[in-house]
Amino acid sequence: MPGVPSVGPSAAGSRSIPRPHQRPGIETRKALCASCDIACSVVTEIQKGRVTRVRSSDNPLFKDNICIKGIVAPKNFANPDRVLYPQKRVGERGSGQWQRVSWDEAMEDIGLRLKKIIAEHGPEAWAVSTSQWNTGTDHGLGRRIMNHVGSPNWISGVALCAGNTAAINRLTYGWYPWPDYDNTNLIVLFGHNPGKNSWVPIYNQIQRVKARGGTLIVLDPRKSECAEMADLWLPIKAGTDAAMAFGWLKVILDEGLYDKAFVERWTVGFEALKKRADEFPLERVSKITGCDAATIAKAARMYATMGPSVIPWTPITDQQRNSTSAIRLQSILRAVCGYLDVPGGEALMGFHPQIISESEIEMHHVLPESQKAKQLGSDKHPAFTYRGQAALREPCKRVWGHEYANQVTGCFMANPSAVFRAMAGEGPYPVKALFSFGNNTLMGFANMPLILKAMLNQDLIVVQEHVMTPTAQLADYVLPGDSWLERPWMFDGYGWLSIYKPSQQSMAPPGECKSTFELWKLTANALGMPEVVPWATLEDFYDYRIAKLGIGFEEFSSTYEVHADTLEFRKYEKTGFATPSGKVELYASILEDLGFDPLPYFRDEPPADPDFPLAMFTGVREGEYFQTGGRHIPEMRARKPEPVLFLSPGTAQQLGLSEHEWVEVETRTGKIEIMVGIRSNMPDGLVRIPHGWWKPETEQGLGKLSGALRYADAMLCPDDDDFIDLEQGIPHLKGLPCRINKLSGAPR
Ligand code: SF4
Repeated sequence: MPGVPSVGPSAAGSRSIPRPHQRPGIETRKALCASCDIACSVVTEIQKGRVTRVRSSDNPLFKDNICIKGIVAPKNFANPDRVLYPQKRVGERGSGQWQRVSWDEAMEDIGLRLKKIIAEHGPEAWAVSTSQWNTGTDHGLGRRIMNHVGSPNWISGVALCAGNTAAINRLTYGWYPWPDYDNTNLIVLFGHNPGKNSWVPIYNQIQRVKARGGTLIVLDPRKSECAEMADLWLPIKAGTDAAMAFGWLKVILDEGLYDKAFVERWTVGFEALKKRADEFPLERVSKITGCDAATIAKAARMYATMGPSVIPWTPITDQQRNSTSAIRLQSILRAVCGYLDVPGGEALMGFHPQIISESEIEMHHVLPESQKAKQLGSDKHPAFTYRGQAALREPCKRVWGHEYANQVTGCFMANPSAVFRAMAGEGPYPVKALFSFGNNTLMGFANMPLILKAMLNQDLIVVQEHVMTPTAQLADYVLPGDSWLERPWMFDGYGWLSIYKPSQQSMAPPGECKSTFELWKLTANALGMPEVVPWATLEDFYDYRIAKLGIGFEEFSSTYEVHADTLEFRKYEKTGFATPSGKVELYASILEDLGFDPLPYFRDEPPADPDFPLAMFTGVREGEYFQTGGRHIPEMRARKPEPVLFLSPGTAQQLGLSEHEWVEVETRTGKIEIMVGIRSNMPDGLVRIPHGWWKPETEQGLGKLSGALRYADAMLCPDDDDFIDLEQGIPHLKGLPCRINKLSGAPR
């Protein structure tokens, strides 16, 4: 998910570190929190070599509050259940029998086994699944090694969370833009709900925009916390973002509210787009979205006339059956209204000219075209794969100076479901080794029963983690990862902001925990290719990346809070856009060449299923937890001890359910147990399910997996053709048919 720069695009520049307030006996460091994916600037306080407190920094964007996940970090990483030494499986897979081994022993065996799998099945038989936070700040080294080995099968949760948004934005105007909150007049949140404990700096930004008289429009099926503070709330039906955006576009085009000069000079396909928008009169949009036509028109007029406006990234639009069209339509609204790459709109930043990006570190050019062609899922669902992004290579080099721009790590990915099917033995070729770093792969994607089958069919699973996650419980090796308190870091804005932020190391890692940098270096050595990761230490690696600044990382991290390129708006006037046509492609030539509709469209909902009469909205984050993490932290569990679904009083009454009752939620894919929470802000018929539940305190090993099989929302989510976006192959999680079954017996 998008990280947040400490300076807005229009104020891009470098900010040096103000000295934090010092107290006797307490050292402080300036750090970036990676307990979620935001990278908030924080201050750590250190006593006797250990971090005792995390507090907010004096940066205006972060000073008002940081969230509880950041505050609890010292306790989180000192948890007695933390994995501190390499563990090797000695019983059957999932039996829970482990032996402590040395790093040397572990890496030698991993190297031998991986080389054997590659020799037998080809390099594409090795899949890697990582996240870019917690343990997983891998700096592009994972992709770099895979590209040298010859495997294209890298996946990440960003496939359905921001990475896919970035990749789809590129199809329209060649880069993923960042909202200029500091100067915008109006913010539109499509279902997104930043709060005091989630996406905190974006919440802070919204407060600042509101405080200076800006406007907020929120589209959300329930009256969320952000909807409560909105100037206009549209109670949109879950999963219908594309139809809503068509409604806005239709009003804006019909009423001539768009930027005619920009459209004429800088877009292709306007007439075809207009014709497509004509298929969406407000009566039709109203019927699909459940919002009344007058409110839809009002919102469209506000967006187009009160600007410059921004539509920030939202995980909600990422996870729908029409995601590609919905993301494209949001891009198109930005462009036709004249909000692209202007102050107060959404800025195209490009690469930082003096710092080597992770995209360059990844070295995608060394992966042969023949291996790129084997990337799983690229035949049916190519949008974010090498195949889908190939036509952007030349334009990207022309405009931004490099062929490969891996933004939010979401470009050039394999399709996760296709990888799991190959791992499960369903072809088109075997995948027999999985590395899962900081990712809890088992619970991080749709169709968990398939992922479980896939993991049980592996010859080698290597996991790097902090605690024994359900994924770790199925591994051959569990390797202990360091935390963000225990390593230096250089945040690169996930590859789409030309803004870099350094983070100082606050304490030494405990036990034998190592950074992902060290782990990838050891992997390269074990595979007999030490030259691929030639830097001796993480600091050496950073020195290499910032060499053009003329200082080393130590000086960089003690001098700067943020280092940003000078931003130039409307750079496209000199270079054109980084698309095949050099213009904003309202009619996307890349999608046409891939065999898809080049215009956005709306694919109707799957047919109603009488056995599953309710709609389920899943993947919901809770402020106490990030994705599947944090359930081992007593302070967080005291606040939120159990998974709780939300439904309306009317639906609860209809089903005879009461508050705190345990029920079973079932779909055609699977079922979970969960507690009932009745909420007056929920619409009738919709069930809201939190993401990523398991209970680390319960029985480990196959058959239980610490409650993952009983509580994880991924058990419910299908990934078959009716429930995926066609271009990307990502799952529809906002509006799935489900039912609720009553449970009898004692509380779980
Ligand atoms: S939002 Fe919270 S968990 Fe995420 S980076 Fe900021 S302080 Fe850390």
